[in-house]
Amino acid sequence: MIPRRKTRQVSVGGVPIGGDAPVGIQSMTSTYTYDIDATVAQIRTLAAAGCELVRVAVPEKRDTEALPSILEQSPVPVIADVHFHFERALEAVEAGVHKIRLNPGNIADRQQVDRVIAACRERGIPIRVGVNEGSVVERKDKGRRAAQQTGLGSDYRGEMIRLMVDAVERYMRMFDENNFQDVVISAKSIDATMVVDAYRAISERFDLPLHLGVTHAGPPETGRIRSVAALGSLLSMGIGDTIRISYAADPIYEVDDAKELLCSLSLRNRVEPELIACPTCGRIEIDLIALTAEVRKKLWTIKTPVKVAVMGCVVNGPGEAEGADVAIFAGKGKGIVYVQGEQKRTVGEADMLDALYEETVAFAARVERGEVELSHGGVNIMPPDPLPRADGSVPLPVVRH
Ligand code: SF4
Repeated sequence: MIPRRKTRQVSVGGVPIGGDAPVGIQSMTSTYTYDIDATVAQIRTLAAAGCELVRVAVPEKRDTEALPSILEQSPVPVIADVHFHFERALEAVEAGVHKIRLNPGNIADRQQVDRVIAACRERGIPIRVGVNEGSVVERKDKGRRAAQQTGLGSDYRGEMIRLMVDAVERYMRMFDENNFQDVVISAKSIDATMVVDAYRAISERFDLPLHLGVTHAGPPETGRIRSVAALGSLLSMGIGDTIRISYAADPIYEVDDAKELLCSLSLRNRVEPELIACPTCGRIEIDLIALTAEVRKKLWTIKTPVKVAVMGCVVNGPGEAEGADVAIFAGKGKGIVYVQGEQKRTVGEADMLDALYEETVAFAARVERGEVELSHGGVNIMPPDPLPRADGSVPLPVVRH
């Protein structure tokens, strides 16, 4: 287990963040918040996928006006994302939202911040102080901006981290002076190494819970790597109390990937099947990549963390899938299905998907009834006799890779 850094705990609509709470999973809607039906539908989809907190943008008054109805229908706590207009924060608090996100880069007026803090204190609502690389450089005062940019030129990375940490510290002074500690902090950048260094610096200065994220990470294809590099590094150091992976895509991918990242690091327990699949190689004799994609889609409906393996050959596959509760080992036109190390059936290529799914559903049902336990990696799978190739030759075992 990764030892986690001790932080204070805040409660977001009953969901604990920080302290000994598991690392939380968040996402953000991509709908116009004033479109109540679309926003509620997306929140429900995200929540069904495992999202525990959902943030919504409230740029206009019609967005905060929509909040009471959204809150009434949302199955998870809702956070209002406030930029530029502190009035939106006050309206969102009044509407009953469960947390406010403020950006020190665009709401810095002391009186305005004090009013938001007072409103949140009255309702027992936490505030996230969310700094972004893009908003810490001065935008209004041209002189200050020029001075900052001169400094940025020589050591952009180091200076930018310093600006982000300074922005958090300046803002937090206002919270300290208000004796308000119901705070979560974030400091996001598009650069994974800057994210790591900024959060490390902040975690040394504050014992408040940290919301991890990479801002504007891009589409999942590239943003996934960027996010895992940054968030995975921090989480493996024990830093981070809630995460939001952000993609230029349907936010459902953010939730799927956040869950997978946390489960991969054993920071959360799986509640759905874990899929193991071989990468395929020159020994493959079926379209395993298509089969794996189909299996993944079908397994989605099972809510038991069965370990399922889809392997491309009967020669090396059993060794590589060791520990899987349910596995299929494919050969030319045929596959052998195993359940906890026991050979169950041999099926043709066209029936592989259904056979694997049926055995997985049956096994999951037995687990749920308490008749059998999940393997937790303790299954030995003896290789079957290799399935002959189309020309009648039998493939020889090879060294495991
Ligand atoms: S040896 Fe078999 S199980 Fe391993 S990658 Fe190749 S086909 Fe897949």
